[in-house]
Amino acid sequence: MLNDLQEIERLKKEKNAIILAHNYQTRAIQEIADFTGDSLELCIKVSKIKKADTVVFCGVDFMAETAALLNPHKKILIPDRNAECPMAHMLTAKEIKKAKNAYPDAAVVLYINTTAEAKSEADILCTSANAVEVVKSLPQEKILFGPDQNLAWYVSQQTKKEIIPLPEHGHCYVHKMFNLGDLYFLSEKNLDAEILVHPECDPSVQKFADVVLSTGGMIHHVNQSLHKTFIIATEVDMTTRLERENPDKTFIPALNEAICENMKLYTLEKVKTCLLNEEFIVEPDENIKSGAKRAIKRMMNISKNQNMIELNIKEAMENG
Ligand code: SF4
Repeated sequence: MLNDLQEIERLKKEKNAIILAHNYQTRAIQEIADFTGDSLELCIKVSKIKKADTVVFCGVDFMAETAALLNPHKKILIPDRNAECPMAHMLTAKEIKKAKNAYPDAAVVLYINTTAEAKSEADILCTSANAVEVVKSLPQEKILFGPDQNLAWYVSQQTKKEIIPLPEHGHCYVHKMFNLGDLYFLSEKNLDAEILVHPECDPSVQKFADVVLSTGGMIHHVNQSLHKTFIIATEVDMTTRLERENPDKTFIPALNEAICENMKLYTLEKVKTCLLNEEFIVEPDENIKSGAKRAIKRMMNISKNQNMIELNIKEAMENG
């Protein structure tokens, strides 16, 4: 009898499927994935998949929805329907419409961590990897930016534009867990460590960092850094990805409790069942498809990082 791993490999061949995983997935899921990346890297990867018929998406709901919008001819499956990002549900299309009426001269820039319905109201999307670049590319001086207030703060520090957070207190519960006191204590114990912080963390934590980066940015940075030890302030399994690719370096999670429970709903058994039964299929609502897709594509077209990321994912494309 085949174990879960062997069965997944067998089903992948039978269904001509590819498995994608976000950087916050567990080691077991990262190891079975054909490609692991941050939101922007996953978007680019999905948009270019040609050979595979089916994509098993090991990330939260908004990521799988984005995948379905970018590659509508593929069957996009998610192994657990409950894998929702709470932050993505903090902003509704209705609130965006209201804000647009209040600020008619502002551009609407939404973080990719939003529902497809909210995306359809955006002028353009962004990820934590390209948020600054996206905002700078726009002619408007006033930007409605949501739903993460900390990423909005980060962008406001890097540009001269007026950034209006939408909603006022949108946040990621995982990145909210980090605090300056813990980080200071850890840095005192590891004086040689470089401190890498995600822009979803509070401003006080960002200010204390040596560098503020998306998870994809952390991977590129670590490859080039002369440091041997790093303190990582983002979801705890980011250190799993970094350790797998840099066995000669040391990664210290800034907080072991910084776990995204929503990302951790996936197990090998669920991935196997998902492939076997071809469920759960992700299909965004027909009415909002074109608006949401336009905002995503617009982001992808202006991203300067795209060439660099494409180089990094070239290898993985063989599987697609
Ligand atoms: S880490 Fe935060 S933003 Fe990312 S999926 Fe989990 S809750 Fe959402």
